[in-house]
Amino acid sequence: MNRNKREKEYFSIDVGDSTFTVLKRYQNLRPIGSGAQGIVCSAYDHVLERNVAIKKLSRPFQNQTHAKRAYRELVLMKCVNHKNVRHVFLCLGVYVKKKKCFWSLYLVMELMDANLCQVIQMELDHERLSYLLYQMLCGIKHLHAAGIIHRDLKPSNIVVKSDCTLKILDFGLARTAATGLLMTPYVVTRYYRAPEVILGMGYQANVDIWAVGCIMAEMVRHKILFPGRDYIDQWNKVIEQLGTPSQEFMLKLNQSVRTYVENRPRYAGYSFEKLFPDVLFPADSDHNKSYSKIKCCSMCKFF
Ligand code: AMP
Repeated sequence: MNRNKREKEYFSIDVGDSTFTVLKRYQNLRPIGSGAQGIVCSAYDHVLERNVAIKKLSRPFQNQTHAKRAYRELVLMKCVNHKNVRHVFLCLGVYVKKKKCFWSLYLVMELMDANLCQVIQMELDHERLSYLLYQMLCGIKHLHAAGIIHRDLKPSNIVVKSDCTLKILDFGLARTAATGLLMTPYVVTRYYRAPEVILGMGYQANVDIWAVGCIMAEMVRHKILFPGRDYIDQWNKVIEQLGTPSQEFMLKLNQSVRTYVENRPRYAGYSFEKLFPDVLFPADSDHNKSYSKIKCCSMCKFF
């Protein structure tokens, strides 16, 4: 972009410890979150006359890892169009001629109200809980049908609106299933890692389903299901609660991992009823009582 044009159409503003350089149509920028790739702001879009969220990817091509993440995010974002997966209205790149690269990329998208970390603390009733879970699964089903494995599903990567609608964010770690089964074990935030990821086995799309299960459990119990302190402890937390895996599972492991797994203390695991006693599930009666008066779920308010 030529400098004069940039100065005419863009302005810069400090948000937290980052500077956003965006089109003048976006005003009233306020920080609302941050992730591995950069900061997210809310803003008012004077053209669309609505609030939006703007995510800044700082120096997306500074090294191979950042470049790969940014590239995945951009490519996948273009391919995916589903109401439960983040939709980007506009992608702006600030090109610095002297550095001969895109210094920053900005993704403008629908503004949501909170991420799931905030919602997990709430006492949600049965309808809202199942509606959120349903939308997570719809989004994941759509990604999987397109051959995309998200690989990093966690509460901070899921955003919701007060009308109970939900979107999955962040494709930074997503990759296509076709790239092969032997993928890096260093994916998926520890607590939500599936056994095949922890144990370095080849993995497939169902690692995302494991993560959804862990998130669902966290919503019901209001605490992390497998809160591993480190990589090794993560496996301990899984077997303590679900039990030592079967011999059939052991046979799928490579020799050194299998020796390790077989030498762990044996656990019977807990029954479903013990892990998720009925008292943890919200009674749906209150909501059902008033449900007949509510015309549609989109009127349900979290906050
Ligand atoms: P991300 O870097 O995309 O994982 O986003 C980091 C954090 O910013 C998320 O955990 C959310 O709290 C927030 N965030 C991201 N996108 C949005 C959005 N569209 N609306 C509201 N908050 C968002």
